Amino acid sequence: MAEFTMELNDEQKEVRDWLHGFAADVIRPAAAEWDEREETPWPVIQEAAKVGIYSLDFYAQQYFDQTGLGIPMAMEELFWGDAGIALSIVGTGLAAVGVLANGTEEQIGTWVPQMYGDANDVKLAAFCSSEPDAGSDVASMRTRAVYDEAKDEWVINGTKTWATNGGIANVHVVVAVVDPELGSKGHASFIVPPNTPGLSQGQKFKKHGIRASHTAEVILDNVRVPGSCLLGGKEKLDERLARARERARTGGERVKNAAMATFEASRPAVGAMAVGTARAAYEVALDYATTREQFGRPIIDNQGVAFQLADMRTQVDAARLLVWRASWMAINGKPFTAAEGSMSKLFASETAKKVTAQAIQILGGNGYTREYPVERMHRDSAIYTIFEGTSEIQRLVIARTLSGMPIR
Ligand SMILES: Cc1cc2nc3c(=O)[nH]c(=O)nc-3n(C[C@H](O)[C@H](O)[C@H](O)COP(=O)(O)OP(=O)(O)OC[C@H]3O[C@@H](n4cnc5c(N)ncnc54)[C@H](O)[C@@H]3O)c2cc1C
Repeated sequence: MAEFTMELNDEQKEVRDWLHGFAADVIRPAAAEWDEREETPWPVIQEAAKVGIYSLDFYAQQYFDQTGLGIPMAMEELFWGDAGIALSIVGTGLAAVGVLANGTEEQIGTWVPQMYGDANDVKLAAFCSSEPDAGSDVASMRTRAVYDEAKDEWVINGTKTWATNGGIANVHVVVAVVDPELGSKGHASFIVPPNTPGLSQGQKFKKHGIRASHTAEVILDNVRVPGSCLLGGKEKLDERLARARERARTGGERVKNAAMATFEASRPAVGAMAVGTARAAYEVALDYATTREQFGRPIIDNQGVAFQLADMRTQVDAARLLVWRASWMAINGKPFTAAEGSMSKLFASETAKKVTAQAIQILGGNGYTREYPVERMHRDSAIYTIFEGTSEIQRLVIARTLSGMPIR
């Protein structure tokens, strides 16, 4: 197990500087354009693929970094550049984690490379769990997967919503109900391979922020996938369902389901995205406050402005520390006895919303326009308190973990 450290090693510093260069030179200059276009920034993703940032190798290297700092460091730098474009670059990684966490070695080897494609033919992946009537309440999921034993195929029917890259992805990871009697314990995850008949994109959403990231409904109409597309395999699923049925019968100890395990591992990464946006807005505000003059002196010369900047930086650093701790715990298999993963996401996402709002205030009228990036950063930041579990759900998870009570 790696010791927790707050210091990046030399190799990590090199990667961070390289990512920062890409974020500053390629992502940030393209941010306003793709925000206005509200389209997937394919040229930027292709550029990221060419230099090796959009690749399975790079993602896996950061994901398996035993210090736990690889993913948060990468997320912070890319999202510092721009949240919408960065989500278009890392959205595939969130789906890949679903396969890395629950798939067999063969499934990982087969499907994860197809999620990325290569630098000459870039592909995307989508993770589809949420539904119109099952957002925070995952147990209300209705998308159904039924096993057709004669053909060794699963038949999937339902409507997914809010899927990042949904409908434009090469590979979709779909969570579906396999045993309705078991609530969220009766869910399983499936790969839907490229060009599978019956999968189509529904409505594409026009959003408040992260507008360069594609978010859409995914319709599954009699989608047939081979038995080998069940993540983890049938034997493991049958064992898991048998245990869940036994527990339901005897009232035994609860266990987390596959989708929840994926969310738990990815929450600190979302916190790191929020840290990136918050830090970006803080830096713009600091720079503006030291150069903008009113009453014959820079506005930072007023405690009213300087103290806001002091608070902003303090909160950004505190958020990063919570994220790094949770990330280190996740990779080293430390149990989240105080829901530290949820804590990091809760604090970092709330910080991003607060800090970006303060940045607009410090830039005055300019902050309120699209001539300056803080207006976009503030719109973007609102997503962090919603996806991968809202702030209220994070508080529920933390409070339940701390108290052991079924708080509602
Ligand atoms: C841009 C975007 C991208 C997304 N990407 C993906 C993706 O790639 N894949 C995917 O599967 N999903 C994705 N999501 C879905 C996201 O995870 C859900 O929106 C989120 O889980 C909230 O669900 P909901 O929108 O249905 O809100 P609801 O669950 O309806 O919640 C509405 C409000 O009620 C509150 N609330 C609900 N239950 C409780 C409770 N018990 N106690 C207190 N408050 C409560 C919530 O906190 C919230 O404030 C994305 C969403 C967005 C907006």
